[in-house]
This record gives sequence, structure tokens and C-alpha cells, in this order.
Amino acid sequence: MIDIIVISILGLSIGSFINVVRYRLPRGESIVFPNSYCPSCKRPLNFYENIPCLSWIFLQGKCKTCKQKIPLIYPFVELLFLLIFNLNNYSSFIFSPNYILNLILLSIFSSFIFLLAIIDYENLKVPVRLLNIGLLIGLGVNLTLPFLESGLTFKWLGLYHICSALIGFFFLESIILLLYLLTGKYAFGSGDSRVFALIGAWLGFKYIFISFAISIYLGGLFSIVGLITKKIKRTDKIPFVPFIAIGAYLSIFSGQKFLFPSLINNLM
Ligand SMILES: [Zn+2]
Repeated sequence: MIDIIVISILGLSIGSFINVVRYRLPRGESIVFPNSYCPSCKRPLNFYENIPCLSWIFLQGKCKTCKQKIPLIYPFVELLFLLIFNLNNYSSFIFSPNYILNLILLSIFSSFIFLLAIIDYENLKVPVRLLNIGLLIGLGVNLTLPFLESGLTFKWLGLYHICSALIGFFFLESIILLLYLLTGKYAFGSGDSRVFALIGAWLGFKYIFISFAISIYLGGLFSIVGLITKKIKRTDKIPFVPFIAIGAYLSIFSGQKFLFPSLINNLM
């Protein structure tokens, strides 16, 4: 019970920080200074206006001074990270046999992919700098772990993950090129290939294909339902990173057994 409470508080706090990053980064603002403020009247927030979820409920979703509505995405993101951090406990992906270290790494990875998903959802593009930082941390983790845990058998883990990142990038770039040659249109955003590079760097290349397959299913389903219900138009740009993030996240639960297991296992 105590672990659920600790993990939930951590999830809410990281979710609150993710809110700062997803708001400020696309606007070119510093994520460290100044302290949180109301985007409408620019008044700095008191500590009790900064408590994840609870403040939103106490303030009834409005700024105390200017009464401007606080968008629902704030408590949504905080609750999303509460959920993700708790679910990480049940992931089947193993970065490290050390339980706490494994949970921390799962949390960092899931924070990155869902932060990218939220930014893409709001802006239809993701900052390359953020993608590069996520990729480098993933490679750093996988290059360092074999030295920390000598008991592990994967000696070539570091090289494996560097290759996986390259495979992720060129896999989607070649699909983009192929679709461009066939249709004359760019089917994905330019950041999408880098998201797959990031997934390769963190998880290894098998997970690129699993994430891709799930994201295509989900993205396709979303588009079809959206078109039928007339919620989206044929010409609308649809953010794809949210589907990649969900795909990558689902893949770390059932791992390689999730989709076409024999094909994936034969590749290894
Ligand atoms: Zn205000």
C-alpha cells in the first residue's frame, strides 16, 4: 500500500513538471525560471495553487485572480502520470534486475515518450532537442548498465542499442520515402523517425516494429472513426506521436510475444 502512495505522489509530481515542460518548451521559454505563473494574468502561483490535481479542484478550474479557466489538460496530465507510474510496476520489460533502478528507468522512458506525445498532440511537431536528449539518455543508460551489472550476459548491449536507434530512424525514413514515391505525399511528420530512434535506443530494435504495428492500428482506427463521425477532415493533420507512444508503452508489457511472435523471435 505504501509503495502505491509513494509512486502515486511521484507520478503526480512528475506530471506537474511535465505540464511545465509541455507548456514552456514549444514556446521557447526556460523550464526552470521563473516559478509557475498563471499564463493569463502572469501572476506567480502560491504553493497551494501548485498542488497537482488538488489545486485544480480547490480553485474549481479557475485562476484565483483573473478567473481565467485552467485547461483540463493540467489535471489530465497529472492523473495520466499517476496511472503510468503505477502501471510501470507491472511492466515485463527489464532494464535492470534491480527492482528500484528498473522502475526508475521505466519511469524515465515512459515520461519521455508521453511528454513527446502530449507536445505533438498540442503543436503537431516535437522539438528535435528534446528528442535528441531522450535518445542520448537511452543510449547512455544502455551503454552504462553492462558495466554496473557484470552479472548480465549482454556484453554487446551498448552496440546493440546504437544499431537499434539507427534501425528505428531509417526504418521509418524508408517508409516515408516509399509512400512519397507512391503517393507524392509525406505520410509522417519529420519527428516521427526520431521517435522510433529513441525507442530503439531505449528498448532495442524488436520493439520498434511492435510499437510501429500497434501505432498504425490505433492511428488507422482513430482516423476511420474520426472520418465517419466527421470529427476530422481528410485534409487534417493528425499527430502520430501519441499513437507511437501508446504502441511503445503497450509493447513493454507483453514484449515480443505481443504481435507476430515467431517473426520477431526469428529475427533475433
Ligand atoms: Zn490569472
